[in-house]
Amino acid sequence: MIRGFSWWLALALASQAQAWELTLPTENRAIFSGDPSDFYMYTDRNFEGVKSQPWTAGQYGFVRDQKRTAEGIILTKFHEGLDIKPVKRDGQGIPLDLVHPISAGTVVHVASQASQSSYGKYVVIRHDWPEGPFYSLYAHLMDTRVSVGAKADSETVVGRLGYTGEGIDRVRAHLHVELNLLLSDRFEKWHAPRFQTPNHHGVYNGLNLVGIDLARLYKERQADSSLTLATFLTREKVHHKIRVPAKGKFPLIARYPFLLKQAAPSQPTAWEIHFNQSGIPLAVYPSTVPTANPVVTWVVPSKTYHAYYTRGRLTGSGSSAALSSSGLSYLSLVTGQF
Ligand SMILES: [Zn+2]
Repeated sequence: MIRGFSWWLALALASQAQAWELTLPTENRAIFSGDPSDFYMYTDRNFEGVKSQPWTAGQYGFVRDQKRTAEGIILTKFHEGLDIKPVKRDGQGIPLDLVHPISAGTVVHVASQASQSSYGKYVVIRHDWPEGPFYSLYAHLMDTRVSVGAKADSETVVGRLGYTGEGIDRVRAHLHVELNLLLSDRFEKWHAPRFQTPNHHGVYNGLNLVGIDLARLYKERQADSSLTLATFLTREKVHHKIRVPAKGKFPLIARYPFLLKQAAPSQPTAWEIHFNQSGIPLAVYPSTVPTANPVVTWVVPSKTYHAYYTRGRLTGSGSSAALSSSGLSYLSLVTGQF
């Protein structure tokens, strides 16, 4: 009897470790309603002298900085998170919404000095999911109410929605929330020679965190609560492929084994990495092609500059592309070759 029970308990605990919940971080639930302008905070746009306040710019993706190009008007600035509107304010217009983790996890970073980042006051929570560690980030907080190392779940109050950080005021107060992969656990070594300014955030600097499409994840997990991150990411469109020489370890694959789509020899010649437009590594394949330096092997053809579609990481146009210096620098963070 006892044995039977402990077997059942072990099985129940194992399946619990696999299952994870995804909830909204504030009381604003309008992402699932008919009017997305109730969910997303607008930005103040001025394009060719025409002022507007598009809610669309609060979404995840290439939603900001319009440019007129050979392919029409395109949006070139990438927004890595969702800007969620407050639903409660006091008489002075101060937002009152409390912020909760989007899933259970461990608090790994609390940035309580608003001036040390464009995120203002922010908190990062690690989620140990079957595909590896994912990191949710809550920015522009009025205050932070958790400490590093604490366990947190959907009941925990991370802080209060606010307007700390760059380019934001009381009227546009919102929660900026991201869900990320972590690129490198040696981030500080990468950062030091490349920036004059100090890094106050260790590996939890925004440059080291790659945001995935959290809005799409909410919607697809609502339709299928067993959807895995690996499957979710295979639905992202490959925008370019880069082949890099294989040197030593590839720590990103060790952290996210699902990225490796084909068994690799113990010392492959090269890797081919598939990226989406915003730079999320989607897939890695071992390659037998000798490669001295990173090379773009394929790109979605474009009539205008690839730079507009890739946050400036690729140069060229048409079906030819090369890595810009920022593209090379970013790639080194992805591969760990720095
Ligand atoms: Zn934002």
